[in-house]
Amino acid sequence: MRSRFKPWAADLIDAHPEIIIPQPETVKGKWHEEFGNDNPIHIEAGSGKGRFILGMAKANPHINYIGIELFDSVIVTGLQGVLDTPGGIPNLRLLRVNAQEIESFFSAGEIDRVYLNFSDPWPKTRHAKRRLTHESFLKLYEAILPAGGEVHFKTDNRGLFEYSLISISEYGMLLKDVSLDLHANEPEWNIMTEYEEKFSKKGQPIYRLEAKFQA
Ligand code: SAM
Repeated sequence: MRSRFKPWAADLIDAHPEIIIPQPETVKGKWHEEFGNDNPIHIEAGSGKGRFILGMAKANPHINYIGIELFDSVIVTGLQGVLDTPGGIPNLRLLRVNAQEIESFFSAGEIDRVYLNFSDPWPKTRHAKRRLTHESFLKLYEAILPAGGEVHFKTDNRGLFEYSLISISEYGMLLKDVSLDLHANEPEWNIMTEYEEKFSKKGQPIYRLEAKFQA
């Protein structure tokens, strides 16, 4: 996600360690204590400006959510969204980290679902390993989910969707649900991401799948 450099972002992030957890490796295995309950924990890898993860957290107060985003200048918009919400969003935390390192932040089975939304497509074959649905990332998700844990993925990018269907199937995951045009019959529970709004307004179909690791 492109975002203008925001020199003030790092200071605002540092001022809110209760929302953007500064050293998530110290919370590994203790996320339920961090949230103060035993509710399920869902993460979004590549959460961008946070529209989806904030919306999900507000809509589902009995689920805990963690948004993972690489860049200060992007994640800071989600932080501002939390700060602007009266009473805050107690069931949401944000991590300014690389999703490649999630095994350092979560222990086996600690996370109940992984969301991937409009992940960077990395269209060149030599960059395939960077795609968040590459086998190496599926292995990471499997390591932090319980047996039968699920990955839910949305994208406007047909090439990435085709690649992901193959990657997920070859990994041995079970496809539970596949839509080639989510908005043709948009489910009432769908929370739009920033990219989803942008691309669907242009009339592009939104692809979506739910896949499950073998129990
Ligand atoms: N999910 C948002 C949406 O649908 O509007 C943002 C989509 S944007 C195309 C992809 C985001 O994923 C970018 O903000 C990028 O910085 C982030 N990202 C890409 N690779 C990542 C990684 N390995 N770890 C964390 N964030 C990542």
